[in-house]
Amino acid sequence: MHRSEVTLDLGAIARNVRTLLRVLDGAELWAVVKADGYGHGATDVAGAALGAGATALCVATVPEALALRREFEGTRIVVLGPLSTSREIGHARDADIELTVSQDEIPDGVRVHLKLDTGMGRFGLRELPDRAANVVGLMTHFATADNDEAFARTQLERFLAATNDHAGVTRHAANSAATLRIPEARLDAVRCGVAVYGLSPFNTDPGDDGLEPALSWQSHLAQVKLLHAGESTGYGRRFVAERDTWIGLVPVGYADGFRRDLTGTTVRVAGERRRAIGTVSMDSFAVELDRELPVGTPVVLLGHGVLAEEHARVADTINYEIVCGINSDPRRTRRTVANG
Ligand SMILES: *Cc1c(COP(=O)(O)O)cnc(C)c1O
Repeated sequence: MHRSEVTLDLGAIARNVRTLLRVLDGAELWAVVKADGYGHGATDVAGAALGAGATALCVATVPEALALRREFEGTRIVVLGPLSTSREIGHARDADIELTVSQDEIPDGVRVHLKLDTGMGRFGLRELPDRAANVVGLMTHFATADNDEAFARTQLERFLAATNDHAGVTRHAANSAATLRIPEARLDAVRCGVAVYGLSPFNTDPGDDGLEPALSWQSHLAQVKLLHAGESTGYGRRFVAERDTWIGLVPVGYADGFRRDLTGTTVRVAGERRRAIGTVSMDSFAVELDRELPVGTPVVLLGHGVLAEEHARVADTINYEIVCGINSDPRRTRRTVANG
């Protein structure tokens, strides 16, 4: 039996894309598949998203874009990250990949999007240069679309004011949060990442926005034992049994992406919610049981009602970081792609 199994549901990706397209009502949907598709598998996600109506792929780096180009000839691919070496710019030009310019010079012979900093305070130009060749897009990025709509609207106004007389160039600003909450921000195209995966940009239940998590992660009880009162499990004796307590050991740990700060989160053991107890080890963690269960009993770490958003709250982070951290190395887990 594999230590764990990560399953990507392409059907869920396609349904999320169609849900977003319904919301968009005309703007293009560009699927953001950087960081190996937020840990889901960029190529598989990209194929499903394009099949469901997405019209471009966005990544963070040129190497990410080149890997996708090998699979998706003729698809629009945009690198959102800052420009790197001239060598990479050359590769992008040869592979017909679009780049984002956020400072200084615009490289020759390659199609670019100019990124304006309207308040993110990160990469981006303070103002647009005089008309430049090869500019196919004008963009900005919101700092607060998930938690401060007023500031996002201020950014949008600045962007519109700066770009209003640039007809014929694709204008795009919205990430998933803005796509769902700020209709005026949708413009010509939106760049959706997290929502495509069925995760909530607001770290709430994705079902509230009609989204369906596409990733599930399952393991099993590799050992079951009775701790007597006063006995502990794991490093540092962080969990000490107050009374006789059945525990199960799950062969997944922080090296697999089940982070050390997930102690206290719940997973599903034989369909029931059970708490992760004690210190999470590199290769395993423990769950508290209410009775003896057989070795091999399924444990759902993610999916089937166990939300990345819940784990994120326990770990004091965001769902993005939970899924990006899952390690799909075949030496540690089995990855499968389903079409549910
Ligand atoms: C990552 C990224 C996105 C996607 O954001 P989500 O919140 O995942 O939808 C959009 N635009 C830019 C510039 C990004 O870097």
